[in-house]
Amino acid sequence: MPYAYDDQNIFARILRGEIPNDTVLETEHSLAFNDIEPQAPVHVLVIPRGPYVCYDHFAQEASDAEILDFTRAIGEVCRMKGVAEGGFRMIANAGEAGVQEVPHLHVHILAGRPLGRMLQ
Ligand code: IMP
Repeated sequence: MPYAYDDQNIFARILRGEIPNDTVLETEHSLAFNDIEPQAPVHVLVIPRGPYVCYDHFAQEASDAEILDFTRAIGEVCRMKGVAEGGFRMIANAGEAGVQEVPHLHVHILAGRPLGRMLQ
């Protein structure tokens, strides 16, 4: 399925430096920053710098270097935030059913409180 990327979405604007962000980590192909409305004591968003709408788009079109960088950036944020021991959750919402508000791929990293069961 072809994806149309909206380059006016808020994360595209963050990547262009038009909107400030609370940066956690910058790498060649990825950016991590604190969520503006945190749902847990740790709530970081990790995004690729490239124009990908969702994970499927990214997996189809990103280079191996981008995919490796993004995957490692997520792990690096987890280590920086010290969440491995207490546990954490990663979420990537996609599309309408996934209730994705911002149409630029992002992985939420949530930790620092009991997160409850997601799947019953
Ligand atoms: P989604 O529902 O998975 O698309 O989540 C979008 C997330 O982006 C939400 O958790 C918002 O709080 C967050 N968000 C929206 N605008 C900003 C911003 O300017 N900086 C940081 N986080 C943002």
